Amino acid sequence: MPTPDPRKRLAELREQLETANYEYYILDAPTIDDFAYDALLRELQDLETKDPALVTPESPTQRVGAPPSNRFAPVEHAHPMLSLSNAFDETDVRAFDQRIRKALRREDVGYVCELKIDGLAIDLAYVDGRFSQGATRGDGFVGEDVTANLRTIKSIPLTLRETVPGRVDIRGEVYLPTAAFEATNRERLEREEAPFANPRNAAAGAVRQLDPAQTAKRNLAIWVYSAAGLAVESQHALLARLRVLGLRTNPNVRQAKDIEAVLAFIAEWATKRHDLDYGTDGIVIKVDRVADQDVLGFVSRSPRWAVAYKFPAEQATTTVEDIKVSVGRTGVLTPVAWLAPVLVGGTTVRRATLHNLDEVKRLDVRVGDRVIIQRAGDVIPEVVRVEPPLVRKGRRTPTRGPEFTMPERCPVCDGPVEHREGEVAYRCVNSICPAKTGQRIGHFVSRGGFDIEGVGSALVEQLQSRSLVTDPADLFFLTKEQLLGLDRFAEKSATNIYERIQSAKQRPLARIINALGIPQVGWSTSEDLAQWVAAKLPADASLAQVFDLLRGASVEDLQSIGGVGAKVADAISGHFADAAEIALMDKLVRADVVPVLPAAKAETPAGPFAGKSIVFTGTLERRSREDAEALVRTLGAKPTGSVSAKTDLLVAGPGAGTKLEKAKQLGVKVVDEEGFEAMLIAAQR
Ligand code: NAD
Repeated sequence: MPTPDPRKRLAELREQLETANYEYYILDAPTIDDFAYDALLRELQDLETKDPALVTPESPTQRVGAPPSNRFAPVEHAHPMLSLSNAFDETDVRAFDQRIRKALRREDVGYVCELKIDGLAIDLAYVDGRFSQGATRGDGFVGEDVTANLRTIKSIPLTLRETVPGRVDIRGEVYLPTAAFEATNRERLEREEAPFANPRNAAAGAVRQLDPAQTAKRNLAIWVYSAAGLAVESQHALLARLRVLGLRTNPNVRQAKDIEAVLAFIAEWATKRHDLDYGTDGIVIKVDRVADQDVLGFVSRSPRWAVAYKFPAEQATTTVEDIKVSVGRTGVLTPVAWLAPVLVGGTTVRRATLHNLDEVKRLDVRVGDRVIIQRAGDVIPEVVRVEPPLVRKGRRTPTRGPEFTMPERCPVCDGPVEHREGEVAYRCVNSICPAKTGQRIGHFVSRGGFDIEGVGSALVEQLQSRSLVTDPADLFFLTKEQLLGLDRFAEKSATNIYERIQSAKQRPLARIINALGIPQVGWSTSEDLAQWVAAKLPADASLAQVFDLLRGASVEDLQSIGGVGAKVADAISGHFADAAEIALMDKLVRADVVPVLPAAKAETPAGPFAGKSIVFTGTLERRSREDAEALVRTLGAKPTGSVSAKTDLLVAGPGAGTKLEKAKQLGVKVVDEEGFEAMLIAAQR
């Protein structure tokens, strides 16, 4: 078998991870479970470790979260908000401990174990003891200003109980208690909206409401766990200080003198966590002493001195009552197992995805089977396997249904179903299938698209059944009278929806492109396309000009855009040549949709490394040269191989030779490894 091309796999992995990040962080609606996500990320990390030349600042391994949505004003964090590296079993936890002891050259390292709260990371800035601004994490450097919404959360004090002069940044997790999470999902199901996959996405949805009054209704709460700007000697002292200041810290925390004590805490909470009235998806292990934390420092996207142990997936056994087929936005048919309700990790599960026909065959799952289902990382349940006794030796039990086959006609519109050679997916090819159109409209109005709140699936179905809307662009032509004629629509609600639709006509170009639902094009490619367009057109270009430019772009032109490969370029080009899509785009132009073109991209994030050209020479002891280069890249610097007049900084370890001499001759700033680490701490805290 030929060895797979690592670059090709790398590109595939980045695309899958970027799509997952967009769905998870921007839409609050993941479509793959956390374990699958973590496995993809690890595969990418392994490829990049083998060949560090493949690492780019845009790689998902180098970035935290996703760029902030533009529904809220951007907030540049005073100190970056990082992620945590993960541990999935005892071996990983022990390896973390070994790394720490080796780096600190000491055996007696004390840890603090905390519950990993399944919520949304938030920064609370207090100036002279008063709450002044609250922000989401965003991409770690820039988050979203959600101050007004956070003010509605009762456990966030508006003034600290002691005045701390100057600015303090307090960090914690805003979460939705389990009962409120389940109530939210029940309400969403009643409104025929998709339930949130996990408490974290639900909390993110509640915090990122446009109307603070909506946030106030959700019973959100906060647990805080870190701060920048408070002088303390240890993590446990920090938690005590935070409590004195009137902030809410989680009581289930323990100082552990060694890794055995840490493992005991993990074992204890693996079962006890189900008794809590909020979600936790792991245990965060932190080196206790701040002096040790400073020595350990950071790798590209996380501190070296902490790790998040993640609880394994939750499983349960139940019976398959039916296998139904749902139809998605692109017409793909997905088999779904309807299950006898079963409790998995505290939540009742009634459906599990079977992904596609190949998966149904691999599992050999039939109606009547007992199956093991799993909620991995507290997300969308899936069928892991059929219980073994029933398939033993091919013997069929009397209750077992026939082998599942994909329907030849679409279960929603009765249109023809196509299965292309070499593809896994079966698709409904009727371009006006209401399921496809409905889902497509859902995508069109979603946060990453035109962002029209209130246009849920129930409303869309009504509009479709009355033929008021046959494609997404029709929304813009709805009149107030037509909305008033719908069931359960009074003057106020009709006016509201009408006004929201009208005001959505002006949107950032990346959202408009994303809303088009071009196959293979997710959020980050939409942003790349918008940047490319903005570089070619005046800032006040019309939508017609934008579409003309994209329609006229050759596959080669498109491939010149960073992040667009051959497959994606083909998909874009095909989309802009498709008669039905052209008709839809023309309709958007006729609806007077106004694109807001992005400003020229800021080259680099702010900070001491931003825009700087840096050279490393000699031996580095704290981290490998590759790690150091990757790290400064994420902070906006450009590492290069040789010293010139353009070099801003030379980091010289022991054994430095000609580069150091040249730097001195040219008057380039030189620091040793200690000096470099101090700069990193200044840049990251
Ligand atoms: P993470 O969730 O693995 O851990 C880091 C976060 O934990 C911190 O940023 C902080 O917000 C939080 N946290 C909670 N309690 C804490 C405590 N006591 N102390 C310190 N921090 C605490 O990392 P992440 O970067 O937030 O998210 C990445 C993870 O999200 C992935 O590993 C994956 O599981 C999930 N994800 C899933 C998808 C998907 O499509 N399913 C997509 C993107 C991300």
